[in-house]
Amino acid sequence: MTDAIPESTLPYPPVYKDKRFVVLSDWDGTITTQDSNDYMTDNLGFGKARRRAGNLEILAGRQTFSRDGFREMLESIAANGHSFDECKEVLKKNIKLDVGFKDFNAWCAANDIPVVIVSSGMAPSIRAVLSNLVGEEVADTIDIIANEVEIEDNGKWHINFRHPSSGYGHDKSRAILPYKDLESPPLLFFFGDGVSDMSAARHADVLFVKQKDDGENDLAAYCTREGIKHIIFRDFAQALRVVQAVVRGEKTPAEVLAAGKA
Ligand SMILES: [Mg+2]
Repeated sequence: MTDAIPESTLPYPPVYKDKRFVVLSDWDGTITTQDSNDYMTDNLGFGKARRRAGNLEILAGRQTFSRDGFREMLESIAANGHSFDECKEVLKKNIKLDVGFKDFNAWCAANDIPVVIVSSGMAPSIRAVLSNLVGEEVADTIDIIANEVEIEDNGKWHINFRHPSSGYGHDKSRAILPYKDLESPPLLFFFGDGVSDMSAARHADVLFVKQKDDGENDLAAYCTREGIKHIIFRDFAQALRVVQAVVRGEKTPAEVLAAGKA
């Protein structure tokens, strides 16, 4: 699925071709402590049991990240009568930031390292929650590459996929691969936690996979199975120390990847 180039229906922010380092990160469950789409599905849509059954199918290799399964999750929320504005408010109240992310982002900003969110979620709700958590001024400095939402006149809403022809809906590898074509590409740090990060995982220079306490560590299981080197991290405070060591030239990417843990 990563080989064919899916057509993007949505624009991309510019590639940071003159930077030495770029951070790309998943949003849900990585920058936030909880996945907002899962949260909405579990609490406003068809519920957790049905959602987990779908994720386990993906992990077992019987199915890749399912654009259609994801759409069904979100449709179950709209079908229960919850408007998109209501969802945004529920998320703003309930979704929390990784404890180290603010400092991590501030350090990156001070060191000329762009931070880009690459998400399978919907940009307007991510933007709303991010602004709420870090303040609008800081949030405005962070690019978001995600899907969009379409709201009908009757209030019904549905997700508008960036890559409708890809099984991922949003193929995150397309946010990374343009960097690989540059003459002297920046070193790419990628942070993720779940099945939607699978397409991007193998293209990162330094891959961080978030440790989960609830057993839903789908990306770690995938990387281990596929032999993709990665660094397990608990929060962005831990990850920052590893990123700093690489940026300052104290450690090579190969060394931090060999350590395997932040
Ligand atoms: Mg995630």
